Amino acid sequence: MRDKHPNQTLKTSLARLFPKRLVEILIARDNLPDKPLKQLDDKQIDELHHYVHQWSIAPNGTEGYRTAEVTLGGVDTHAISSKTLEARDIPGLYFIGEVLDVTGWLGGYNFQWAWSSGWVAGQYV
Ligand SMILES: Cc1cc2nc3c(=O)[nH]c(=O)nc-3n(C[C@H](O)[C@H](O)[C@H](O)COP(=O)(O)OP(=O)(O)OC[C@H]3O[C@@H](n4cnc5c(N)ncnc54)[C@H](O)[C@@H]3O)c2cc1C
Repeated sequence: MRDKHPNQTLKTSLARLFPKRLVEILIARDNLPDKPLKQLDDKQIDELHHYVHQWSIAPNGTEGYRTAEVTLGGVDTHAISSKTLEARDIPGLYFIGEVLDVTGWLGGYNFQWAWSSGWVAGQYV
């Protein structure tokens, strides 16, 4: 970019790669040298390269149960038959879906697990 657009500022250059508002915040927050690219020496370009490629986000928490879509934990899968979903120690008691300690990624896997485990248990109840 420095070779092709030497008069372009860092802000304009980065805004070609990232959302403009994000670039503005990063430049202000991290005091990036918002100058025409031709004024940046190799060391500065190298530092910017590392800055961009090693930028990471650390989530500072979750929104809790208010927006939770799936929960970890539940009935231990070792306590039920994987074939019938009946409790090993309590004949006639079946567990399916979310209540079991089975957690899928978002994207339909939890619905699929609820429906499939329900169908399987339904064959034996
Ligand atoms: C906001 C949200 C979005 C989600 N989006 C997705 C998604 O896009 N894709 C995906 O795969 N999964 C999604 N999930 C997860 C998915 O909905 C669940 O994994 C799935 O519905 C679990 O099905 P289930 O039948 O095991 O339990 P549930 O759907 O929780 O059904 C349990 C039922 O039991 C009833 N119940 C509870 N206690 C009693 C009682 N004492 N007596 C009688 N009835 C009782 C409840 O009212 C409820 O109707 C989402 C979940 C939430 C909350």
